Amino acid sequence: AQQSRQADFERYLLQLNERLSQFQGNLEEAQNSYSGSLDAERELSGAIRGQVQVLNDSVRAADDLSSLKANVEARLNSLLENIDKARELREARDSEVAERLSTMVERIQAMEVEAQTFRHHLEEQRQQALIDSLTGLANRSGLQQRMDEEFERWQRYGGRLLLVVLDVDHFKSINDRFGHLAGDKVLTEMALRLRSRLRESDQLFRIGGEEFMIVLPETRQKDADVLANQLLTSISARPFQEDIKVTASASVAEVSKGETWSVWLNRADQALYEAKSRGRNQVVNAARPLPVVGRGAEDMPDSASG
Ligand code: GH3
Ligand code: MG
Ligand code: MG
Repeated sequence: AQQSRQADFERYLLQLNERLSQFQGNLEEAQNSYSGSLDAERELSGAIRGQVQVLNDSVRAADDLSSLKANVEARLNSLLENIDKARELREARDSEVAERLSTMVERIQAMEVEAQTFRHHLEEQRQQALIDSLTGLANRSGLQQRMDEEFERWQRYGGRLLLVVLDVDHFKSINDRFGHLAGDKVLTEMALRLRSRLRESDQLFRIGGEEFMIVLPETRQKDADVLANQLLTSISARPFQEDIKVTASASVAEVSKGETWSVWLNRADQALYEAKSRGRNQVVNAARPLPVVGRGAEDMPDSASG
């Protein structure tokens, strides 16, 4: 998604660059024709001033009324002509400038619309990259983004920050026995069951195939243990669609001072592994000492995964 986003963005920037150079060309043209017509107007008004001067001189030099009258008439006519010409020139220039301006305004508007569309498009892709399409929950990238913020907040202000990691037991055998599609439905229903047990402020992620994570800010370990057990019960108490019995195992881990995000996550993973090896369908809190043991007995008699 990031690659296609980048390719899109590059394409957009190239397009924008092209538009902007067109735009600049247009502006230069407008400026040139504007100063060109300014020159023409200056010339004309010089000519008009010249004619007024000639008129002035001939009035002064005139000695009979009828030749003065003819002279003044001729000069006034050409003066009027020139004034008309000047007005036409100015009107033509004004309308040309106005036209160019409105073209440019239209182009700017089109560019704004495009930029807006592009921004929406980017946002959509970003959303898609952060959200798991099967369950609609935030995915691992979503978790990463969330944790960056949450972890920074915790480092700055302290307080409590807990993780619950929850993994479906023998999910491979559910797929094997009921088919992959049924497995998918279990995951979707699972997301709904978990979500309905959580508070608005608790964040639920699907971080892998059949693995979920809940981030609990400002929660005591005792309460997180209770919650994790309730979540497991909400899964095991009622069969899923097509009468599929499902259990899950979970771990609870509170971040401790000086820990990095990956050390913390690793501790949560170890506790989850411990819950599996203790027989699954149970919660292990990472705060309690974990024995270094291998995988224990499997609890589902009809497991096909072994
Ligand atoms: P455990 O109790 O130890 O967790 O056993 P498990 O079978 O749940 O664990 P394992 O890691 O062996 O198998 C996980 C299975 O989850 C394997 C994989 O095919 C399945 N899986 C992963 N993602 C999906 C998915 O999106 N849909 C379906 N239907 N199955 C998935
Ligand atoms: Mg599993
Ligand atoms: Mg797993």
